[in-house]
Amino acid sequence: MSIADNLSKYKTELEASGVQLVAVSKFQQADAVLEAYNAGQRVFGENIVQELVEKQAQLPGDIRWHLIGHLQTNKVKYIAPFISMIESVDSLKLLTEINKQAAKNNRVIDCLLQIYIADEDSKFGLGFDEAVELLRSEEFQAMKHVRIRGLMGIATNNASERQTSEEFKELKVLFDGIKVSYFRKDEYFNEISMGMSADYKLAVTAGSTMVRIGSSIFGKRTTKASTAQ
Ligand SMILES: *Cc1c(COP(=O)(O)O)cnc(C)c1O
Repeated sequence: MSIADNLSKYKTELEASGVQLVAVSKFQQADAVLEAYNAGQRVFGENIVQELVEKQAQLPGDIRWHLIGHLQTNKVKYIAPFISMIESVDSLKLLTEINKQAAKNNRVIDCLLQIYIADEDSKFGLGFDEAVELLRSEEFQAMKHVRIRGLMGIATNNASERQTSEEFKELKVLFDGIKVSYFRKDEYFNEISMGMSADYKLAVTAGSTMVRIGSSIFGKRTTKASTAQ
C-alpha cells in the first residue's frame, strides 16, 4: 500500500465519525510528507522542534503543523511564527512562554493540555489537579495569545485493550468535567486528541476528535521514535 492508499483508507474511516487525522511525519523525509500532501493531507504532527522547523521551511506553506512532543521553553520561539497547534502543553511555565512568543508574532496559538493518563513513568503531561490549577490561575486567565482547544493524552504503550480503553475513557471524563467548569460557553474547547496507529479505534470509540497516526501511514520509522524524546 502506498502512502496515498493508506491515507484514503483512514480518511474514509475517520470522516464517517467526524474525527480529524493528524499525520505524524516525525523521522520521515520531506518527500514522504509531500507525497501525503499531494494526496490531500494538510495536517501533520512532529515531535522535535528542529526537525519541524526544517520541514516547515521546505514544504508547502498551507500545511498545518502540530507539535505533539515535549516542548522545551527555550525552543518555543522557533515555532511560534507558524505553528498551527501545540498539543503537548504540560506546564504553566511553558504556556506562559507560548503566550509571550505568540504576542511577539501577533498571533493567538491554539494549544491542547497534555494530560497524563498512562501507567508509565516516561510520559510527560499534567495530572488532573495540575490542569485544573493551571486553568484557575490568574496567570492563565490573563493570557491573550493562547487558546486552549482541548486535551491530549497518550495511553500506556502495549497495554491490554481493556486498560487502553479505560485510559481513553478517563481522558474523555476529564474533558467533559473541564468543559463544564471552565469552558462552558466556549465552543472552541472541543478537541480530544487521543489515539495512535495501534489504538486509534479504541480512542474513537471513547470519544476522540483527533487521532495522531504515523507508522501505519508512512510505514515503519527508520530511527526509533520516542514520544518522550
Ligand atoms: C509518534 C507519535 C504518534 C504516532 O505514533 P504511531 O504509532 O506511529 O502512529 C502519536 N502521538 C505522539 C505523541 C507521537 O510521538
